[in-house]
This record gives sequence, structure tokens and C-alpha cells, in this order.
Amino acid sequence: MPKYVYDFHEGNKDMADLLGGKGANLAEMTTMGLPVPPGFTITTEACRAYLATGAQPAELADEVELHLHGMERRMGRKLGQVDAPLLVSVRSGGRYSMPGMMETVLDIGLTDESVHGLAAWTDDHRLAWDSYRRLLHMFGQTVLGIDPTHFTAALADAKTAKGVTGDLDLDTADLMRLAQRFKAIIREQTGRDFPQDPHEQLDLAIRAVFNSWNTERARIYRRAEHIPHDLGTAVTVCAMVFGNLGMDSGTGVAFTRDPATGRPGAYGDYLADAQGEDVVAGIRNTLPLAELARLHPVPYAQLTEIMRTLEHHYRDLCDIEFTIERGRLWMLQTRVGKRTAAAAFRIADALRAEGLIDDDEALRRVTGAQLTQLMFPRFSADTSLPRIATGVAASPGAAVGQAVFDSATAVAWSQRGIDVILVRQETNPDDLDGLIHAQGVLTSHGGKTSHAAVVARGLGRTCVCGADELEIDPAARRCTGRGGVVVTEGDTISIDGTSGAVYLGSVPVEPSPIVEYFQGRLQADADSLVRAVDRIVRHADNRRHLGVLANADTPADAQRAHQFGAEGIGLCRTEHMFLGDRRELVERLILADTDTERAAALAALLPLQRADFVGILTAMNGLPVTIRLLDPPLNEFLPDHTELATRVAVADATGHPDPAATRLLRAVQRLHEQNPMLGLRGVRLGLVVPGLYDMQVRAIAEAAAQCAKDGGQPEAEIMIPLVGDARELAVISDRAATVLAAVRTETGIALPHRIGTMIELPRAALTAGRIATWAQFFSFGTNDLTQTTWGMSRDDVEGAFFPAYLDQGIFAVSPFQTIDRDGVGRLMTLAVREGRAQRPDLTIGVCGEHGGDPDSIHFCHDIGLDYVSCSPFRVPVARLEAGRAAIGESTTDSR
Ligand code: PEP
Ligand code: MG
Repeated sequence: MPKYVYDFHEGNKDMADLLGGKGANLAEMTTMGLPVPPGFTITTEACRAYLATGAQPAELADEVELHLHGMERRMGRKLGQVDAPLLVSVRSGGRYSMPGMMETVLDIGLTDESVHGLAAWTDDHRLAWDSYRRLLHMFGQTVLGIDPTHFTAALADAKTAKGVTGDLDLDTADLMRLAQRFKAIIREQTGRDFPQDPHEQLDLAIRAVFNSWNTERARIYRRAEHIPHDLGTAVTVCAMVFGNLGMDSGTGVAFTRDPATGRPGAYGDYLADAQGEDVVAGIRNTLPLAELARLHPVPYAQLTEIMRTLEHHYRDLCDIEFTIERGRLWMLQTRVGKRTAAAAFRIADALRAEGLIDDDEALRRVTGAQLTQLMFPRFSADTSLPRIATGVAASPGAAVGQAVFDSATAVAWSQRGIDVILVRQETNPDDLDGLIHAQGVLTSHGGKTSHAAVVARGLGRTCVCGADELEIDPAARRCTGRGGVVVTEGDTISIDGTSGAVYLGSVPVEPSPIVEYFQGRLQADADSLVRAVDRIVRHADNRRHLGVLANADTPADAQRAHQFGAEGIGLCRTEHMFLGDRRELVERLILADTDTERAAALAALLPLQRADFVGILTAMNGLPVTIRLLDPPLNEFLPDHTELATRVAVADATGHPDPAATRLLRAVQRLHEQNPMLGLRGVRLGLVVPGLYDMQVRAIAEAAAQCAKDGGQPEAEIMIPLVGDARELAVISDRAATVLAAVRTETGIALPHRIGTMIELPRAALTAGRIATWAQFFSFGTNDLTQTTWGMSRDDVEGAFFPAYLDQGIFAVSPFQTIDRDGVGRLMTLAVREGRAQRPDLTIGVCGEHGGDPDSIHFCHDIGLDYVSCSPFRVPVARLEAGRAAIGESTTDSR
């Protein structure tokens, strides 16, 4: 038969699933011999049974009575006793803390009769009536569901009538009247009297706490925090102790270290002559904990001793709630305290230095998400500047600059030393230069995987996207935001990529010391935070099995990746090498009618490409650089169809036909595709555009040869995108081998160049064994693999229907952000197995956006990949999470 109720001395801190965090920790403190009032906890299992059937389990009432009797015996008083009544608190407490989401009822046990008993027993009439009116209010609101404004309005009326402002200014007679008023409110609102049977009060309060698990706000909170809905809450019933028995009593909350900075030293707030909820409610100004030392030195000394004991026992920052009743200290709660990202690192390192935890445990105590937060510049203070929109917080950080509405202006202004924010409806590959030159990017369309978001994250730029309150008019160079505020080109705006807020004006920004440290501008011992990050990330490096590479396309990016600790480039995309003034050469390639014309266009591109590769191979000297041959459809490099058609039509109509433009228009029309992402791209281009991939392979081989000649150690690898069938790869590999051999003969330099493929189509994953015959390495392109597995366009869906999917719980998180283990993940697992069966020394990594996502990194570790490759900025996070995965930390959450 299940046991539904545990006395405090029956449980321990490891029973949080059953007793909730609060119940488990109260039990732990009780067993440690700390001063906890007697009490018991009703299990989450009882709650689940109640929620499933709508009725309490049959045995529950008897068990509660039994434990209540035990409590009464220990206290020497009884619930409902007319002379010295025992009062109890009833609190919720689930496995995971859900602050303020669920219900609490204090002072259960007071009735019209026992309120007099309490007054006599405490010799404090005011306390008794104050407690009674609190019970009537809390019970009315949380158990009987009465709108709380009835009670707060009556309280306000009582104070106004008396001409006072504070609750403490109400005397016993006022509180007696207020209690009568509150009882009348209960009668008016529910049609029945406040129950005068304390056992009925207790029973109803327990049910109310069970029911509060399913309130709308609790459900919303759980959805946001990814807490399962089926856990249920435990209910803790505890003997009341009184912090409101005069100035030698009080209540407080405290932390064993500062949860904001992680610095040592007790930290907290105290309120004399008050009950617990007064501290949280902020009704009166609290005193800093240090003041308690002056007011009540004895309980203060006891409290600091207990805090030391707790921190040693839990080996972590603890937060506590306590009450002092006439000079006697009582512990009402403790738990491992929440903390900021900076505090998490400082505390983990400090506890390690104190010998309380080892390096592995310190690594478990921090997360990649926390490290990410520390790496972005941030707005230094709350601002009073007007908020003109809120969008999707797509790439964290704080950016301030003058608004510009096109990329050319972004580049031009930034070259004049002006900080700019690029404001666009959405961005496309043409905006790359603008994004590079801007402090941040703000768009009105698109979600977290829109072009703007992906590129901004890659570059470490701040991005707020999908801010649909903004009406952007690029032609007029202005946008209109909330309240009709108009931002004209050149106006300063501030965007917060951590919250999605957009402000008009300049909010002060601080650089991240962690980034300064990675980039060599700060020493590791510069401050305690940098020291902690340095030590913990280096320990992760010692433990991890996964290599960490970077996605970088330029020497500057490659260098930055190296500073952040990347061990090579896992994806060097080459499409940016076909943009800007090189477009003209691409146009010539596409328009070529003869082999000679085509060869000339390719010959013109060759030295440019070679120079690009020399740059990046030099920056990563001695480390592998995986260069991916051209992937996007060629029409991405051609002019816009509408604009070109207009130009041709105008030229024709005015009698000055433009033959070059007309030819180009025909090519644009010929290459137009309804679904370019599923069209002529990747390896398909290599197979149908003669000479294109050969030219790229040659440029890579010649660049490597040149680096070697100059004394370098180039390690170029060639990667073929969007392969779906082994035969595609076989043809391209053969051709590449021929080109490589030719370059070897011409230069006299023999360098090994590994040839591999991306696995980014389901068919590639399903036929990975055959593909491995031709590939020395696989790199999962999880962006495309997710898109093609789900049949969802990565560029469109996030804005279109993802919010609805997330809301309805179909996704817990976007599959473009975290690898969908059940679908995409299974394809990956299969490809790893079959690829390695064919070629045991096959190197396998991932280079989609997921390569920098903590949860996905753990998955990559689990399925035995060799490396992850991610944007430079995410490299430290990947190092950390790869280390955490290796020490068996299964969660990426610090909860
Ligand atoms: C991918 O598809 O995951 C990938 C890395 O390639 P791209 O994002 O360039 O399509
Ligand atoms: Mg791809």
C-alpha cells in the first residue's frame, strides 16, 4: 500500500521527486538536528492520484490525522484547541521550484473561538487577530477562490478610516473589525460561512494546493521552464511559529553567498515583527541581514553557524527562510539557491578551491547557456528610454548604433567610424557585408533561424528579429514603432538580443570580460569570474572526447575561432566568395555559351578563390580546414528578377534595348525555381555546371601548395554538399582526384587532401554505408537534414507556425535549435553505424547550427561523433558542454 505522508524526520534531501524540494529539504534539516518546527509532507503521488481521479486517495485522510497527532504530541497543543491552539501552515512544493506559482495558506486552525485562546496563550491579542484576518484573507482567496481585491480593498478602507498608512498602525480593535468584515466577504461571495472546524480547514487547504498545480499561470510557467505537467506537487504541513510577536520576533530570507555575484558572505533581508509573506510582498522595507547581528546577536550567531553547516552539507549555495519567535530561531525552508550565470561560475570555482567539490563537480555546476550569457556585452542598467518594439531575442547581446536601412549604408557609415544597427524587414545573403559592419541587426520578419538570426549568431552580432510592431519603410529610410514613434535613418537605437527589447536612444553597454579574456586582452587571473571560467573550461577540455571546430569563412573569423579554442575549421562555406564585385564573374560563368567563355570566367575566379583559401589556411596553420564546395543555387548570385525585367522593359520601350541585360534576364528566368532549396544546388551544381567544382578543388590544392612552399602546414579537406546518392559523390571524387593529381605534378608538392561529404538529406543518411565508400569523413548538415526530414522550410516556418506548435506542446523546443533525437537523431545514429561499418576510420562530425547547441552537443557525444563544428562565438560553450557530456552530466540545465 503506498505511503502518502512522511513526517519530517522520515525523509531526506534525495526524496525531492516524492516530497518536493521543500519537503525533502525540511526533512533533511530535521535529520541534521537543525531547529525545524514539527511537520509532515503529503507526497506528489497523492497529488497525482487526486488530479487523476478528482478525489483524495482513500487512505490519505487517516494518514494525515495520524501525522497530525504526532505533531500535536510534540508541540503539546492541538489543532482547534480552545485555549492554546496549534496552528499550521500548508504549503505547496513540487520537484522543481515554481516561485509564486502555487498556493500557501498560513494560520490554519484559527476559529472564532480559538482566536481568543491564541490571544491568551501568546498574551498578545493583536497577534491573534492579525493572524485571524490573514487566515480569512488567504483562505478566502486561495481555497475559496474569492477575488483578492475584496480583501485588499477592505484593508485599505480600514486604514483610510483610521487615517494611517501601515498595517502595523492598525490596533487590535481595528483587526477584530477587519476579521468580521472578511468573514462577511466570504459569506457574500460564497454563500457559506468560513469553516469553523480546523480539520475541515486543513482538508480544504490541502485540496486547494493540489488544485493549484493546474492553474493557468502554473501551466504557463511549466511550459516556459520545460517542467513536465504530470509531476504534481507535494504539500507540506508545518506547525506555525510566529515572527509577528513583537520586536523580538521577525522573519527573513538569506543566502549563504551572494546569488547575484557569487561572492562569499551571508546575504539576505530581515523584517522585524512580521510573517514570511511580508518579506516577499515588499510591504515594508527590509533590513540587511547584517543589521540582525546588532538587533539579535544570539539568534544571528546561531543563524550564521547553521548557514555554514548547510553550505558544507549541501556543498553548494543554499537559500533559506527563517523566523525568530521571541528570540528563538526556527528554520522554515532551505534549498540549493538559484543564481546568476556569473555567480554559478564563481561559486563552483570557490567551492572547488575550498575543497568541498572536485573539478568534475565544478564542471557539472555550470552550463553552456550560462557561459553564453557571460559572453555577450550587456546593457549596464535598467533604462527609462522608450521601448519602441519587442521582437524575438535571436542572438544575445546589447547593441547601440544609428539606424540604417540598407547594407551599403551600414558598410559606408561603419567605415566612417559610426556604429550602426542594420534595420531590415528581413535579410538575405546580400546583406552579409552589412551584417559584418553593423553592431547588431533588427528585423520585423522571421524567427530564430531566419537568415538574420543565423548569420548574426555566427558573427557574434546582436540580433532582434521578428519585431512585427515595427513598420519598416526601407525606401523612406525610416520605421515606425510602438506608440507611433518614428525612427529615421541616423537616429540612435539600442537593441537587447537577450530580451528582444528595442529602445529609442542610447542605453549604456559594457563589454564582456570573458570575451576580452578569450581574445587575449585580459589575463586569466584578472578577476575571480575570468579565473573561474578559465579553470572550468580548461578542465572540460581535459575531459571531453568530442573535438570542437568552428564554422568560419574568412581569415578574421578563423582567427577568432582559434582564440576561442577551436581546433580547426569544420565548415568553411564558399558562397560568400562569389558575392560582391565577383558577381560579375559568376554572371559570365552562367551566361557562357561556349567552353572557352566558361573557361575564361572560371580562370578569372581561380586566383581570387586561391587567395581566399591561402588566407584561411594561413590563419589556421597546422589545423584542419574543411572547405565546402559551392552549395546555393546559382540564381542567388544573379540580380533580382523584377528589377532586371523592369530595366529590360524600360530599355526596350525607350528604343535603347540592352542586349546584355536581356541575356541576363533570360538566364534568371531559366534558372528560376519554385523551391530552390530542393533544386539545383550542392553536388547537383557540381555535376551540371562544367568546371565549377574542378576550379574550386584546384584553388584549394594550389593554395595549400603555396602555403606549404612558404613553410606552412596547410591541412585542407574538401567537402561535398547535399549528396543523396553514392554515385554523385563517386563522380565528383574521381574528378577531384584528377585535379589534385594534376596540381601535384604542376607544383611538385604532394599534400594529402581528404575528401568527404555532408550528410544533410535523409537519403544520404539511409544510404550512408554506400556513401562511405567514397567519403573519408561525414559532416552532418543538420540544418538541411532537419528541413528535409520534417519537410519544413528552415527560412519560413519559424515565423509561420512555430509559435503555435510550441504553445500546443507539439515541440518543446524548435528542431532547428536542438536536434530532434527521435527523428533526425535516428537518421544520424543509423548513418554513424552504417558509415563506420563500411569504413571503420571514418571521421564523423556535425556542422549545422546544432553544433553549438548544448543539448545537441550531448546527443553528438552520445552517438559517438568525433567532433562538433559551430560558429566561433559558440566554441567555448561547445568545449564546456562536450566536457560535461563526457563526465556523464545528462542535463544541460542548471535547475
Ligand atoms: C546544414 O545544412 O546544416 C549546413 C551546415 O549547411 P548550410 O547551412 O550551409 O545549408
Ligand atoms: Mg546545408
